[in-house]
Parts: sequence; structure tokens; C-alpha cells
Amino acid sequence: MSLQSVLDKVSEVPGAGELIPVINPATEEQITEFRDGGAAAVDEAVARARASFRSGVWRNLPGRERARILWKVADLIEARGSELVQLDSLNNGMPFRSGEGILPSAAELFRYYAGWCTKVEGTSFDIQMTAGITGRQADLHGYTLKEPIGVVGMIFPWNGPLFNACIKLAPALAAGCSCVIKPAEETPLTAFVLDQILRDAGVPEGVVNLVFGYGHTAGAALAAHPDVDKVAFTGSTEVGKLIVQAASGNLKKVSLELGGKSPVLIFDDAAMRSATVSAAMGIFSGSGQGCVCGSRIFVQRGVFDQVVEGIAAVADKLRLGGPTDDGAQLGPLISKKQLTRVMGYVDEGKQEGVQVVTGGNRLDRKGYFVHPTVLTNVSTDARLYREEIFGPVVTVLPFEDEDEAVALANDTTYGLAGAVYTQNVRRAHRVARRIEAGTITLNCQLVYDHQMPFGGYKQSGWGREYARDGIEMYLETKSVYSQL
Ligand code: NAD
Repeated sequence: MSLQSVLDKVSEVPGAGELIPVINPATEEQITEFRDGGAAAVDEAVARARASFRSGVWRNLPGRERARILWKVADLIEARGSELVQLDSLNNGMPFRSGEGILPSAAELFRYYAGWCTKVEGTSFDIQMTAGITGRQADLHGYTLKEPIGVVGMIFPWNGPLFNACIKLAPALAAGCSCVIKPAEETPLTAFVLDQILRDAGVPEGVVNLVFGYGHTAGAALAAHPDVDKVAFTGSTEVGKLIVQAASGNLKKVSLELGGKSPVLIFDDAAMRSATVSAAMGIFSGSGQGCVCGSRIFVQRGVFDQVVEGIAAVADKLRLGGPTDDGAQLGPLISKKQLTRVMGYVDEGKQEGVQVVTGGNRLDRKGYFVHPTVLTNVSTDARLYREEIFGPVVTVLPFEDEDEAVALANDTTYGLAGAVYTQNVRRAHRVARRIEAGTITLNCQLVYDHQMPFGGYKQSGWGREYARDGIEMYLETKSVYSQL
């Protein structure tokens, strides 16, 4: 399908709400618009999902059949890869090569969870009760059943729109759930194509239902809906708290992948050149719009100046540009709102006397581009040090020893990720245990694999995506006792 026909079709999706413009953030031009479906579209989508779940059309398919269909989804994602990459890039401004890097993992997610379709299994138990509440002895056979949780509402953000949809859909479908998905209002395009791909691959009608709209309209209605059994949310911690409140009406299950302010510790015995480049890319990749970005770098005092200079040098060499700009490495921020927010933090920092080593300004061109920014001399009370900025802005502070580094790393309400650079193997693993975060990377950053669980400690989330944990989040456990 041509890009233009996707843009046209998105604008034709029925909805009674406000018209929402879709902007290319690299050019600030509107590329299409669509209607907010609001609560009415959510009601219809949930009813379709519920009907499909009740009918058993998906959940009762043999696991091997579900696996075959999920495998086909992966094939179709690859077959329509260039269209998906172009749409995501047009929609979030990222250089094509960023999207091309992510596409294979989106397809692989479906293959990985296709494998789990035939491995959802319970456990069995021999039970000899000597004195139950009846006071009688009993020989029992016990076993557990793993059953799909039901209708799942999925709400996710604009950074990696295709991938954010796949990480929830693949395990939920493997588990046998029916789903309602609400992509971010900024990035509806690839969700629209993915919806078609799922049908073409053979996912039955009504099992996956797409709803477009704002968070405070469609998103809020989905999170609060009394006939939704679980909401799987990725987004900011602030909205995560609203989701928990909304979900309390029917006590639906909630999983949350939220924000971060991830620490990066560089010790003086690190392989300095690679540590510096890796830490710089660990914040600036994706223009800092990644939940695991290492936005607080701590460097041992003796090598502090050298590392700050190195990170600033990497920042200055990075080429910013839109999807079609030759050699572009970093794209723009997603929206004007985000640009204003990020620059607000930087300007506040300047007023408070932070040292801007490099950056601190938006580019003098169309598009929401911000120069990668390195800040030192930052107070640990500053808002820009405490809050998630979600832009290409990093603070770098010195530390004296391991204890101080760990204390600084853990002095945050977030706990999504952390990185340690040292050539001392014992220290690397010791510090990995001491950092309060869901993912720790040693002498590297931005590495993931479907086989490893992913999620946050503290206010960075509830639950784990990827791996076996990922499918468990969409399953209920039933215990069955049988008298022998
Ligand atoms: P956001 O929380 O503003 O929006 C995320 C989604 O929630 C969007 O679809 C939005 O429409 C919806 N939403 C907004 N208000 C809502 C409400 N009241 N009820 C229901 N839904 C609502 O987040 P954002 O700014 O779009 O995305 C960036 C955030 O996402 C960052 O904090 C980032 O760290 C986080 N994130 C986390 C992960 C992770 O895996 N931990 C991954 C990517 C992004």
C-alpha cells in the first residue's frame, strides 16, 4: 500500500470527536489528520473484543495454530518493512536507519512469542491433606491451569510506535487474549498498518481492535472501562498513576512500563574511549526520547574532565536531520510541546547557574531539533536533575568512590535502568546488584533481547515485558483440586 493511501485511510477512520492533526516533526508540516474516537469508539471496540473472547475464536484455537498465525504476522511485518519504516519515520521524524534497526526486533517479537503458544502450561501436585478445615484426611491431585486474562486494553507512546504496539500484542495474542489498542495521538500510522497485517495473517475479526484518540479521551475511557480485564500501559509515570486510579473501578489488572532517569557510572579504570562514546550514545540516541536513556552520568573524579570533554565531542559530531536527510543520525523531538518542555528545563538550568558544556539550544531550522546538550555543575535538587526530560540532555556529576556512586545512582524515584563502566569484573557485578533498577548493563548500553525480562523498579513500573514474564502478564493461574 502506498504511503499516501495509508494517510488517506487514517483520515477516514470514523470518529465523533475532535480532528487531530498528524505532524511530521522534522518539517513541522501536517501530513494527515484523524478523528478522536473517544469513549464511544472504546465502547464499541471493547464490545467486539469481549464478543471474540467469549466466542473462543482465538483463545480456543490450538496453540500451534495461534503460533502459525503469529509467525505469519512476523513475515508480513518484514514483507511490508520499508512501508512501516517510512511511516514511522514520517510520523516521529527519526532517520530511516533508526527505524530499520528496530523493524527486525518487531518481527522477531512475534516469532519469539509464537514459540510460547505451545508452551503455556501449568504444574501438577500430589497433595495429602492431614487436617483440612473439615478435619478429615484426603488424597488429592492438584494442578494449575494458565488461562488468558481476557480483554486487554493497550495504551502506548510515540517513541517507537510500531515496536511499542508489538511488545504488548505479541505476548497477549500468544496467551489467547482479545485486545483493544490505543496508539499515541501523535503516531497513529503504523498501528493502522499493523492492524491490517494481523487480519491478513489470520487473526480473527474482533480479536484486535484499534481505537484512535487522545489520552484524556479514548485512553482514559479504556483505562476505566468496566469490561476490560487488564490494561497494559507504556508512558509517563504521571499518566501511569492516572491509569492506576482509573483501573480501580473494576480492579482490572495493570502493568506499567514508565519513565526513567537512569544512572551511568564511569569508574576511573573503565576502557575510557569506548565508555565515553557508549555513554554519549546512551543518552543521545533517539534524541534522548528513550525510556532507558542514561540521563544522569556520574564520573570518578580523576577522569571527570576527560570524560565530560569526550561526551561533548561526541555530541558535537552527531548529525541531526529528518528521515530523508543524508547521513542524519539524530531526529527531532516528537512535537512542539515536547520541544517547549525540554527547552524549559534547559533554560531553567541556565538561570540556576548550570554549566552548559555544549548544546543548550534548538537548531535554527524547521523541525523540533535540539542540539545534544551536556550540563555540569548541576545541583542534585534541580528539577532538571530529578525529573525525566525525555530529550537529548544529560547531566554529568563527579563522584569519589563506589559508595558515593551507588548512593547518587539510587537517589531517584525511578528505577528503569543503569549502566556501569569499569574493567574490574568484581566491582561491575557488585555494583550491578547495588543499583535499584530493572535492567543493568555492564560496559555497554541500549542492549536488549526478547529472552530477557524488561521493566522498572520503584516508580518506573509494574511487571516485566519480554521473555516468559511477558506472557505471564496476560495469563491468570487457576488451581484445581481433585479428590482421589
Ligand atoms: P504519556 O504518558 O503522555 O502518553 C502515553 C500514552 O498514554 C499515549 O497513548 C497517551 O495518549 C496516553 N494517555 C495520556 N493521558 C492519558 C490518560 N489520562 N488516560 C489514559 N491514557 C492516557 O507519555 P509520552 O510523553 O507520550 O511518552 C513518553 C513517556 O513514555 C516517557 O515517560 C517514557 O519514559 C515512557 N516510556 C516508557 C517505556 C518503558 O518501557 N518503560 C518505553 C517507552 C516510553
